Amino acid sequence: MKYWKKLSRPQLIKKIDTALESTVDFESSRYLGYPVSHLDENVFNTSGTSLDNAPILKSFIANPNNIGCHTLGKSEEAFKGSQELEKEVIRVLAVDIFKAKEDEYDGYIATGGTEANIQALWVYRNLFKKEFNASLDEMVILSSEDTHYSVHKGSNLLSVENVSIPVDFNSREIIASALDTIVGKLASEGKKYFMVISNMATTMFGSVDNPDVYAEILTKHNVNFKIHVDGAFGGFIYPITNKQSTINFENPNVTSITIDAHKMLQAPYGTGVFLCRKGYIENVLTKEAQYVDGMDLTLSGSRSGANAIAVWMILFSYGYYGWFEKINTLILRTEWLCDQLNTLNVAYFRDPFMNIVTIKSSYVPEDLAHQFGLVPDTHDGENSWYKVIVMDHVEIDDLLKFVEELKVSQLQKIN
Ligand SMILES: *Cc1c(COP(=O)(O)O)cnc(C)c1O
Repeated sequence: MKYWKKLSRPQLIKKIDTALESTVDFESSRYLGYPVSHLDENVFNTSGTSLDNAPILKSFIANPNNIGCHTLGKSEEAFKGSQELEKEVIRVLAVDIFKAKEDEYDGYIATGGTEANIQALWVYRNLFKKEFNASLDEMVILSSEDTHYSVHKGSNLLSVENVSIPVDFNSREIIASALDTIVGKLASEGKKYFMVISNMATTMFGSVDNPDVYAEILTKHNVNFKIHVDGAFGGFIYPITNKQSTINFENPNVTSITIDAHKMLQAPYGTGVFLCRKGYIENVLTKEAQYVDGMDLTLSGSRSGANAIAVWMILFSYGYYGWFEKINTLILRTEWLCDQLNTLNVAYFRDPFMNIVTIKSSYVPEDLAHQFGLVPDTHDGENSWYKVIVMDHVEIDDLLKFVEELKVSQLQKIN
């Protein structure tokens, strides 16, 4: 890990204070032309000693705007501090976690995984238009049936058809033969440009797609394609737990990645990250964004600099090893749960590198699922699965209560 270090609390606070100083100083009367200010002190508690030890609250009060993309070109001078910290976040993610080469990546902190996924589709749609003069009818989005619904939003917004690829019921793996047939059929119907959303942990199962399966089949059919990895949930776990993972920028098949900081990283909402290789994000340049100094290459306009600082602070509070330990604690708990389920002969799906256990619903009485807040795969009609996600607050003692109730229900069934 080249950049992902652990800083002491005083170091963290000092860096954030410095960033805020260079970010905005509305009192100096230097910013007469910006439609921004600090939070309204008539409404919010914006002063007092309680803030001294609360750098994130201070950041929210200062209210910097991280509008635009800061990994290339110029950026707004007025918010330099929080933008620099955002750049550090993007660098840790791109280089240390997803193995991008130095300065070979772009990215920004989006509102969430939804925006980051749509940003990727938007980049590819424009790329296919620009490079090949492709029409919307010639493009198609491919994703597994377990893919997050944000991809359907993107398909709808961008007017590019989305085709779902079936997965095996038990392994949740993409059925390669079905993908092959579907691509063949789409190609014969005139589709030439494929945008793939490959999951690094699906929301319901934590299943991880192999992007190389897509690449191999699409190459065989001689069509153009780009692959985006949706690591909204898994991005802060899978690359840490699976050291052998090839789902990163070293893999030539992967062009862009989504990672949500507001899921596993427990950052404030509004912190999904979009990453891509250099040379792609320019496809969504909005030339008309002339009042923004620098280029706006993002789907959102104004966005929270305080959020970027919060993500920065979490990353550098832990450092790589701190995060490694935290994730492995969750994995340990997950393995504990799986051992118990094995003993009880309960059928479930779990990717060995993930903290999601998805149990076949026939093994879990409905009232039990309700009592423990398990999430079903569908809220209307018959569901087939219930998932447990071992997050920070889900401890073995909590899992134990569930397992004990599950045992009782099994005994009741027999009697
Ligand atoms: C949560 C999630 C999303 C959407 O992210 P938001 O941050 O809620 O917009 C996209 N993909 C996957 C796999 C997710 O788990």
